[in-house]
Amino acid sequence: PAELGLPPPKPSSSSPPLTRSFSDKRQRFVEPSGPGDEAAAATTTERPPEAYELRHFASMDELETPVWLLNPRSRKNVWGNKAALSLYGKRSVEDFRGLSLAHCEGDFAKPFFDEAARVLSPSRNSSSPSAGSSARSQAARGQLQCRLPGLGPGSPQLHYVFTVRFRGVRLLSEASGISLPSEVCLVTAESSLFNSMNQSLRALEMLKSSPIFTFLFSTEGQLLTANPCAVTFYESFFERKYGAASRTWVLDLRSILCCGDWDETVSYPDNNGPALDPSVQAKEKKAEKLLEHIQHVLFVEKFESFRIQMKMPKRRDPSKHRWVEFEMWAAKDPITQLQAILVNQTNMQETKKLELELKDKRDDLETRNKQLQVELKRAKGHGAKGSLDLDNTVDKTIALLDSIMAGKQPGKEDIQRLKQALRTQNLRAPNRLEEMLLSNKKGFEGEVGLSLFEMLNPKGLKDVLAQPLSARENSNAKKSLSRNSTMDLDTEDEGGNEGGLEPASEDGVIPRGIDQSKPVLEVLETVDDWLFDAFKLEEVTGGHPLSVLACHLFKRLNMFETFEINETQFLHFALKIESGYPVSNAYHNRTHVANVLQSMYTLLTKGLGPEVAGDEEILAGLLAALIHDYEHKGVNNDFLVRFQDDLALKYNDRSPLENHHISAAFDVMLTKPYDIFANTSLEVFIKLRKLVVAMVLATDMKIHFEVLGRFRLIEKKLGRLSSDPVGSEGCSSPSAEEAQSGSADSSGLQPEEVSLALQVCLKCADIGHVYCDSSVHLRWVQKLEQEFFAQGDREEENGAITKSPLMDREKAGITKSQVGFFKVVVVPLFASFCAAFPSTAPMLESLHRNLKLWAKIEEDQLEISEVFDVVLSD
Ligand SMILES: [Zn+2]
Repeated sequence: PAELGLPPPKPSSSSPPLTRSFSDKRQRFVEPSGPGDEAAAATTTERPPEAYELRHFASMDELETPVWLLNPRSRKNVWGNKAALSLYGKRSVEDFRGLSLAHCEGDFAKPFFDEAARVLSPSRNSSSPSAGSSARSQAARGQLQCRLPGLGPGSPQLHYVFTVRFRGVRLLSEASGISLPSEVCLVTAESSLFNSMNQSLRALEMLKSSPIFTFLFSTEGQLLTANPCAVTFYESFFERKYGAASRTWVLDLRSILCCGDWDETVSYPDNNGPALDPSVQAKEKKAEKLLEHIQHVLFVEKFESFRIQMKMPKRRDPSKHRWVEFEMWAAKDPITQLQAILVNQTNMQETKKLELELKDKRDDLETRNKQLQVELKRAKGHGAKGSLDLDNTVDKTIALLDSIMAGKQPGKEDIQRLKQALRTQNLRAPNRLEEMLLSNKKGFEGEVGLSLFEMLNPKGLKDVLAQPLSARENSNAKKSLSRNSTMDLDTEDEGGNEGGLEPASEDGVIPRGIDQSKPVLEVLETVDDWLFDAFKLEEVTGGHPLSVLACHLFKRLNMFETFEINETQFLHFALKIESGYPVSNAYHNRTHVANVLQSMYTLLTKGLGPEVAGDEEILAGLLAALIHDYEHKGVNNDFLVRFQDDLALKYNDRSPLENHHISAAFDVMLTKPYDIFANTSLEVFIKLRKLVVAMVLATDMKIHFEVLGRFRLIEKKLGRLSSDPVGSEGCSSPSAEEAQSGSADSSGLQPEEVSLALQVCLKCADIGHVYCDSSVHLRWVQKLEQEFFAQGDREEENGAITKSPLMDREKAGITKSQVGFFKVVVVPLFASFCAAFPSTAPMLESLHRNLKLWAKIEEDQLEISEVFDVVLSD
């Protein structure tokens, strides 16, 4: 410690008067107090005790070290600088003068005064100037480590440790009138508490033993220092995480923040600085963003601190987590004086954890609430175009019963509405179907809505619009409809048998096998794909796509062996059925049926799976697909009914086409040489027949909502079965006894439920082109449009004044109505089917792609030929 320099005596009045300017002071007091000053001080003490006037001490007021003059005899103060005054809690020298340390005498006071007395001992004082000069100079100095109480107001109640120095000084009397002792003791008291070295040591010790993680990082996040517990924890944590040998990790702010669970993070202050981008997924990126945020908050916005709370690995068991809080302050690196970030990491209290968890929950609920609000709005706004309410009366009844079972009291209004709905005839048709399709409110304009309604409404259009047949229609109908007038099927004219296969003839000549050429096999290899092109198969098989595919699939599935069906006989049968599909039908021809058969095969094997469809169900499904449009007339049921066709008369207007497909096909099946089930047991045959009849009848779109509505009731049950199949024994189909007794099989499904699943499966397969490749799908829709136009022509021939909607080739055809067809029929049907059999989801994707295409066609008012260009150029 530097020796306190004293002003040199001013013996001559000619010397310039002492000024109290800053520069003076520095020259006089600070400069000589350097470390090399000891020798200089020693030389000055060679001289006899200096004599000072009181005014000479005035400049000492600037010193931070308390300096005062003490009369050792009276033990009273004579004068003090400002620092000394403040030590005593006084403001003026007058208050200070005359004070003694009486009130705190005791332990500390005695050695203090003993030392002061020793310094100023009279014996030494009286020694001769020459001999005593060195002795006196030694004696005049003394040093004492003592504790002084904190005296001043507001000073802490602890004892300061002072290094006190004494020095004998002579005081000259002044003309001030105050009597001063000539022999005084100059006291300097330097507190060692303020000694920076001690301070640092203690601070260091405090940090070392602190269990609270404390770090100092540069503003860029590099570690400047940290206390040992923090370093030990993170080093061992990273070693465990990355391996002890690897030093690829760096202990810095980023890597520490990366340990946290970013899904569970809360930071304060909120909404200041760049927000954390929620799309940033990687932890490293997030830590980088957070660091930017911290820099902004602390050094740009200059917030006092930044806090972040996150889930971090536990100290003892880093595989577990706990909530910690990082609090960060702007700080300075004491070495470089650059800005730095001081970080404290503390564990959070239990209550805080709960608070945060509650906050999370509340946030979740708020989000959910918002979603529900949106859904509610959507549900209320029926008017919005594009949202269809396909709820039917049965759904509504079940929903109401469910809510009653859940303990809710139904409102009077709900019950009234339900009563009204129950009076409607078709309980499974959407309640608002008529309104939706015919009111023009949903964007189903004119004929589009009309055609959909006519197709889907079991009562037929005439009931609704009360549209009378024209007089000409009535009078011409009977005349023009000679027996089978609309049934110019090629069973007679053999229109389909000019291909490469030998015709199946009545004289029993049976073709030896199916076409095994390379191009055929190539197409057949794609039979397991979702995207199948039946047109290609038609091409390579020379017009026999159906028989070739049927034989291929039956062989592939081992059906010939399992059910003892003669392969050659089956080929014969398949050719016979194929020939029952007139090539003159633009759409309902053998290629359509081949497409349906392939769809049915993939849906049965990939979708329903062995839990729902065993061998018998698969056989029934394929057979149903094979015959489902047998001897189709290229016109719809409404046409047959309208013009009183033989089939309409035969089946009393109830699904005449579908009834005929089944009836005629079974006629073939039971007649030699096509009796492929001759070796099959009667029980199995009866079961197959029952399933096939149900499936093909369900393809009538008039009962679409009836079938779909019933299926939706078992949709969830089937979905559960697909995700959690019952043991492997459940693969086999129920035995005939089980089926007959109506009991559930091992998969927990009733036979009726299996049958229903198969019905919906064939319904999907029947319009399976909706999930074909876009160019193939477009071709199918075009084909159907052609067939519809042909029907329109026939309606005109038969004297109809108005053609069926979308069937007049002078007007828009069904290529203009596909969005409506998709929204009302296709999407709900396939969504339900995929919910029951999730593995069929790839269909949905293709289907939605095609829907988008139709929406684009509708929006841009594209012609179908233009669309082909678009699709094919992709
Ligand atoms: Zn069909």
